[in-house]
Parts: sequence; structure tokens; C-alpha cells
Amino acid sequence: MRILVTGGAGFIGSHLCELLLAQGHEVTCVDSLLTAGKGNLEHLTGRPGFSFRQGDVSAGLRHRGPLEQVLHLASPASPVDYYRYPVETLMVGSYGTHHALELARSKGAVFLLTSTSEVYGDPQEHPQREEYWGNVNPVGPRSVYDEAKRYAEAVTMAYHRAYGLPTRIARIFNTYGPRLRAGDGRAIPNFIRQALAGEPLTVYGDGSQTRSFCYVADLMQGLSRLALSEVVEPVNLGNPQEMTVLELAQKIIALTGSQSVIVHQPLPQDDPKVRRPDITRALQRLGWEPATGLEEGLRETIRWFRETPGALGPG
Ligand code: UDP
Repeated sequence: MRILVTGGAGFIGSHLCELLLAQGHEVTCVDSLLTAGKGNLEHLTGRPGFSFRQGDVSAGLRHRGPLEQVLHLASPASPVDYYRYPVETLMVGSYGTHHALELARSKGAVFLLTSTSEVYGDPQEHPQREEYWGNVNPVGPRSVYDEAKRYAEAVTMAYHRAYGLPTRIARIFNTYGPRLRAGDGRAIPNFIRQALAGEPLTVYGDGSQTRSFCYVADLMQGLSRLALSEVVEPVNLGNPQEMTVLELAQKIIALTGSQSVIVHQPLPQDDPKVRRPDITRALQRLGWEPATGLEEGLRETIRWFRETPGALGPG
């Protein structure tokens, strides 16, 4: 197939481009490089079937020639990034998604949106099923991401209902693995960088809030199956293995053999208190569930941070 990936230079996007190429597809990656470096794509540059174009999908999206799939990943995705780029985040969720949908429609291509567990906000149902409508503060600092993705889901469903566009929506829960940016501010890259540098690990609040972390290779299998499925309803993709943020910090200290201590810093506003995907739908409709345990995935991620030149830099 000929596949266009927006946001293909990012953490998840670069893994996806790699998988699609390995499956024998032709991949065009479009990325503004606002929050990603081209480094994630270095190993793909020059490979037959791969092309990269720098461009902001919020401004427009064109492509010469046929396409069978448009996979729309472009967006700042870590809280630190979307606090830094609040307007860009809303623009890419709205205008960017609209442009990607129009491209898919004009080519007769399947459209896949990568949405997020953030559509559930600070959830009052636990674990989160796709039927849950969420609890989002529409004017809080996280709203720029949460509402952008909620809008993106809404406009995706509207294109499906109004034009019969074949659409897919993945609600991606916290994901980790090689190519996370050390400076992106999220818990796993922060804790690994801090532990390896012998610095204190910064746990926000008392660390009793929970998250459920999915290894990136598992997510790739889920995304790939969803794109090839006929499932129009949103599908949670994540690992239901839940833990507190404090437990995560302790685990990373243990796995790195670090002497670092844990310090507490203020909890960001509207930080969700719990998060765990109910993946019944993914299991039933896609036959997908994650295969990698947290310890195994963290060991691989820590090894990558240790062995990759520049991975621990501020980038
Ligand atoms: N967190 C933390 N210390 C950090 C970074 C994050 O305690 O250095 C917490 C954050 O407040 C949240 C959880 O870890 O409760 C996961 O945060 P992350 O930014 O990784 O992703 P989120 O789930 O908030 O999108």
C-alpha cells in the first residue's frame, strides 16, 4: 500500500513508519518537526519506499499520486510540549485533522486518527471503557490537548457519517520505549534520565496517582491491526498493568541500579488521578493485547538510553 503518516518523525510515528516499511509498504512521512527531531528517521532515510517531507499539516496537506491509507498522528503529545505549544496543539487537532481527512477523502483512502486516553480526562470510571464520555476541564491547561483530540474524534466520526469515509480511531494510553525524548517531560524519560545521572527523581504530588504503561512494540501491533480492520468505533490501545507513579519511580531506580533518591514536586493542575484501559474491545475486535511486561520493556528502554549517543541530552 501507499501510506501517508503525519507526525511520522515523532516517537510513535517513527516506530510506525519503520513497521510499515518492514511490511513492504511505501511510506510518506510528513512532520513539522515542532517537537520531534529528524534523528528518529535517520535509519530510514534513503530506504526504498520511504520519503520525508517537512510540513505543518495545520496549514494544509497535499500529496501527488494515490494513497490507500492516511494515518494522522501529528500533534504535540507530552504535557510539557502541549503547555509550551497550546495554540499549535489546538490547530493540529482541528485544522490538521480536517486537512488529513480531506486528503483521505480525495484519495479514497482509509483514515486513522491516533487519539488518546486524555479524552477521558480525570476519569470517574475505572478502568476506562470506550463507552465512557470522560471528565475534562474545558478551560484547564490540559484542555488544549484533550479538547483538540475530542474535536478530532468528533470530526473523524462526522466524515464517516456524512461521507462514508472509512475511519479508525485509536485511543492510545501511556506508551514508552526507545526514541522517547529525554526532554519531553514525561514520567518514564524523566525518571530514566534522572536515575542514570544520579539526580533525584521528581515525583509530582505524593505519587499515588496511577498510570498503565504500554511498550511501543506492542502498540505498533495494535495500531497496525486497527488500520487493517473495519472497526469504526474508538479502540483503547494500552497495557492494563496499572501502577502508582511512586512505584514506577522505585522500579526505575531498582532497574538502573541508581543511588538516586525520590523528591516530591507539586502535582500539575488537573493531573488524572487514575488511568487504566479496558482493552476488551481491542481483544475481541482486533485479537490484540500487549505481550511485553513492564520490567522487560523498561530494561529495553533503559538499555537504549544508555547506549544511544545523545539520547540523554535535553533534546
Ligand atoms: N510525573 C511525575 N514526575 C515527572 C513527570 C511526570 O511524577 O517527572 C507524573 C505526572 O504528574 C503524571 C504521571 O507521572 O501523574 C504521568 O505523567 P506523564 O507526563 O508521563 O504522562 P500523562 O499521563 O500525564 O500524559
